[in-house]
Amino acid sequence: MVQPTSKTLARSGTGSSSSARSVLPPMTPTSSRYWDRDSGTSRSSISTSSALNASSLKHNSDDGYKSASSSRDEKSEGLCGLRNIGNTCFMNSVIQCLSHTQELTRFLRSHHGSRSSATKDQQILHEFAKLIQEMWTSNVHTVTPMELKRAFSTKHRMYSDYNQQDAQEFLRFFLDSLHSALNSGVKGETLNIDDNLSDNKKADLTWEWYTRHENSLVRDLFVGQLKSTLKCTTCGNTSVTFDPFWDLSVPLPSSSRCKLEACLDLFIREEVLDGDEMPTCAKCKTRRKCTKSFTIQRFPKYLVIHLKRFSETRWSKLSNIVEFPTSDSELNMGSYGANSNSNVHYSLYAISNHMGSTAGGHYVALCKHPVSRKWHEFNDNIVSEALSENHLVSSSAYILFYERT
Ligand SMILES: [Zn+2]
Repeated sequence: MVQPTSKTLARSGTGSSSSARSVLPPMTPTSSRYWDRDSGTSRSSISTSSALNASSLKHNSDDGYKSASSSRDEKSEGLCGLRNIGNTCFMNSVIQCLSHTQELTRFLRSHHGSRSSATKDQQILHEFAKLIQEMWTSNVHTVTPMELKRAFSTKHRMYSDYNQQDAQEFLRFFLDSLHSALNSGVKGETLNIDDNLSDNKKADLTWEWYTRHENSLVRDLFVGQLKSTLKCTTCGNTSVTFDPFWDLSVPLPSSSRCKLEACLDLFIREEVLDGDEMPTCAKCKTRRKCTKSFTIQRFPKYLVIHLKRFSETRWSKLSNIVEFPTSDSELNMGSYGANSNSNVHYSLYAISNHMGSTAGGHYVALCKHPVSRKWHEFNDNIVSEALSENHLVSSSAYILFYERT
């Protein structure tokens, strides 16, 4: 089970660019322009599996202690590759996207948790914080996320082998672990809401209740609130429910090329619940044919949009091109809101790309640097030179990360 396949071995070797490139799909836009900032200087790379402390980090840099702070180059911090340790490109891709989530990384860079007597989730957080701190150290260009993988697999056994996994599923489990590690919420209280209150009041009370249970920075950053409205087709009675969401998993239309808005329209589109799916109408007191539709009640700070390219069984993959907004504040989610707030603008800052088919594929990340504002491709241990915005939209785009502006 733990034996890597031959394909894995090819990918997981020393991480030299030649072996990594040999298995790359041909469509990588910048394969000839990989970032090689430190040619001619000693390459300092750090493995998280070795014991590490702040002083060893400083000694590792060419400048030593004296000029460590003055030599800090904020435009290159974070341009750090992650070695593939056996089909772990799904994890590397998601970590890079999270690493470019500014408020999360700002928190993790100053987080010093203790490993002792920690829960499995707290160990994951601890290893992730350690990894992020290394990735955002000047002159560190590659790290090996071995300890994080180990901590994560201890909690989530399905990740203990070296199989290819789905990046979005990993993201959900991963954020859930980070949230659980930080959660200071109190459990037990039940939610009682007067049905005569306005929808917005119900939404607020539901959200307050939720945040008393689930209280962490991770929730603050990523969770929004979805409103679903159920309408009885017989008596017209409507009932609303409010649920937290960590990402929006949007379907793709059948056309080979579409705009992101078409996917979002499909997501919120009214759906008919009939036959076995018929809900019980509170007014008719019997099961009725109903319509169900979604709107967004509360928009998150960071909006994660998952393009559903894979069928439920993962037997097929859609390679439609979805044209998503890439410029600052270009995505306006206002029309998907439950209330008429016409300005809910988001800027794209990271993309997890899946290339290839369901049988075999490869994940990379495209991320916007918070200081230089330039886009780079993170292909396991290889970080590309700055990319043009024209390279961002492709049939590989799988998970989009937007920041509210
Ligand atoms: Zn009814």
